[in-house]
Amino acid sequence: MDPESGLDAVRNVGINGGKIRAISDGALKGKQTIEAKGLVVAPGFIDLHQHGQDAENYAVKAADGVTTALELEVGVADVDRWYAEREGKALINFGASAGHIPVRMAVMHDPGVLLPSGDAAHRVATPAEMEEIDALLEKALQRGALAVGLGPAYTEAATNQEILDVFRVAAKYHASCHVHIRTPLTQVAGNFSGFEEVMAAAAITGAPLHVVHIQSTGGPNVTQELQMISDAQSRGMDVTTEAYPYTMGMTSIQSALFDHREDEPANYFASLLWPATGEHLTRESFLRYRQQGGMVILPGNTPENVHAAIVSPLTMIASDGYLAKGQGHPRTAGTYALVLGRYVREEKTLDLMTALKKMTLMPAQRLEKRAPMFKDKGRIRVGADADITVFDPERVIDKATYEKPLQYSQGIQFVLVNGVPVVKDGQIVEGTFPGRGARAPVSQ
Ligand SMILES: [Zn+2]
Repeated sequence: MDPESGLDAVRNVGINGGKIRAISDGALKGKQTIEAKGLVVAPGFIDLHQHGQDAENYAVKAADGVTTALELEVGVADVDRWYAEREGKALINFGASAGHIPVRMAVMHDPGVLLPSGDAAHRVATPAEMEEIDALLEKALQRGALAVGLGPAYTEAATNQEILDVFRVAAKYHASCHVHIRTPLTQVAGNFSGFEEVMAAAAITGAPLHVVHIQSTGGPNVTQELQMISDAQSRGMDVTTEAYPYTMGMTSIQSALFDHREDEPANYFASLLWPATGEHLTRESFLRYRQQGGMVILPGNTPENVHAAIVSPLTMIASDGYLAKGQGHPRTAGTYALVLGRYVREEKTLDLMTALKKMTLMPAQRLEKRAPMFKDKGRIRVGADADITVFDPERVIDKATYEKPLQYSQGIQFVLVNGVPVVKDGQIVEGTFPGRGARAPVSQ
């Protein structure tokens, strides 16, 4: 199945040198043969939003059909070092954006891990600091960062001016801005100022905009914001979005999202889940863990709003995954198989080709203007990279749960990365590292 050409037929696929060399209804001969009878052969899934970027995370991604996992929301500060650390050691392809959050943390000496907990969250930058932030982002783009990542929800003291200036830098390099938008403590239907901040910045600067996980930050406004994206597209703006199929979210308890929450009622704290122990929080444990630090699972949105986001033709599927020593959110390991198993097979609310398009072609197209290597990903086409996922449409389903987030998906039978099997007969292949850095051209 190829979402670009619409091909949905029985074919033989020939692979050599990491590329697709033949697609034929006649027989093909090769050194190795994979019997895919009764299975779907699709382009490998491209995850635009995957924070965990190590061997543990790459294995669960591969088991869920992902061949390219990209850290585009938070992003990184030192692009060269980040790619060098992974080259030759990765099961699947990897890549990152120039991250406003980590750059702001470096410039303002924030002590946080992954997300800011000190000055980078809470202090307005001086003009000199803003200049330094923009210069570091520009350098990261010159070194081939795929996009620009921003999270004004986490850098809440960053002014509209600072965000606008970051969009200006992105526009200069035709880099899309992948943004976790600001959301108020209590979201009101019909109020969407965090969303409008970035729509305005994109319109003013011309930078492409990608609103991340709209099913959570959209709150009660998911369908309105999807409509606004559709309207903006019809007026020629380059705006896209993504969603993951879970009603709960996960983030750092020391982040700015939990500022000013001390006086919430008891049921607010009880709605928070501490995955390290499986306990629901109280005011006392919330304050204690906020001192200690760590990841917390929190209510994201209603099932109706999540459903609306996943079935919308506008959204790409992206996981927002992160596991550390087996702990984290089930979206890391289960996002793609859940959409294929539940939405496509069980509920029939998405047809299979549309679901695959949201996982393959659309994310490739999001990046291919800045990083032309993505023109050869997300497609089953002669000349395309042999990143291929082969799954059983009758059996595919997620297995990861909030209690056991590390459980691999079922029914993903074969996964090839640059022509090399990383999943065979539903099992991860150990000791193979065909993943390559996905990067924009280095301009300096
Ligand atoms: Zn986010």
